[in-house]
Amino acid sequence: ATPISITTAAGRGAQAGVLVKDAEALEHMARVDTLIVDKTGTLTEGKPKLTDVVGLGDLTEADVLRFAASLERGSEHPLAEAIVEGARSRGVKPENVTGFEAVTGKGVTGKVSGQTVALGNAALMQMAGIAVEAAEANADALRADGKTAMFVAVDGTLAGIVAVADPIKETTAAAIRDLHAQGLKVIMATGDNQRTAQAVAAKLGIDEVRAGMLPEGKKALIDDLRAKGAKIAMAGDGVNDAPALAAADVGIAMGTGADVAVESAGLTLLGGDLTGIVRARKLAIGTLGNIK
Ligand code: ADP
Ligand code: MG
Repeated sequence: ATPISITTAAGRGAQAGVLVKDAEALEHMARVDTLIVDKTGTLTEGKPKLTDVVGLGDLTEADVLRFAASLERGSEHPLAEAIVEGARSRGVKPENVTGFEAVTGKGVTGKVSGQTVALGNAALMQMAGIAVEAAEANADALRADGKTAMFVAVDGTLAGIVAVADPIKETTAAAIRDLHAQGLKVIMATGDNQRTAQAVAAKLGIDEVRAGMLPEGKKALIDDLRAKGAKIAMAGDGVNDAPALAAADVGIAMGTGADVAVESAGLTLLGGDLTGIVRARKLAIGTLGNIK
């Protein structure tokens, strides 16, 4: 076959919902052997819904949800939206927050009506010096369902758990099968908990899972695999994914995600689902197959 020009390829890409930043991005796409994918918003819809609220100690479920939702009004994370919306639909009214802080990859903290609240993963609780052992079994049962369980602590004591579930995109499973057929190894890199990540990965036949990762961790994983000779494509949607997208041989942004992700990537998928990567790979090989 005659190789088509980069300009033609870019035009075809656009028709197929793949925006190509430059010829290099397409060249790398033809040669990658490993795809690293973020979970939330990339494999999943990124529109999680509140599924469970557990009150521990003296607090009722409504109390726990009120503390959680009040704090999350200050966060733009998809998990935050799920908690705020879950509270609203359950008729729980949020309260005033002062001293709000977001801790990247861990959660949020602040004062709700004068009480000190921390909401997030085990790493956040550890930072705040709050023991979670008593609730680990409870959280694990939720994670085994693929849910993300977050701890809620009030005034230094564990007060409850809130859990959200983020449905896997309808197109993800078939796209992973196609990517495997194209010879790619698929690795999930997520800030979420190991059990939750594993439950989602198992449903999709993902080759490897790296959980509990901070943005720098995703970038370090890519640097490490590249140093070992792997050619890496990285797909992600979040502000958190920007360093990893920039570190990969080719970064692939979900067009539905954050602007900074798009800016850091060589390819952008307009439809925002993984079938775009299958198309981008075919296009790249079709374009550059003969120019290697
Ligand atoms: P992902 O890589 O899956 O997109 P993140 O790195 O954004 O995940 O977040 C990792 C974990 O940190 C979440 O699974 C959650 O437990 C916790 N977390 C992050 N942001 C928040 C928040 N606003 N509220 C509660 N928990 C949060
Ligand atoms: Mg994400």
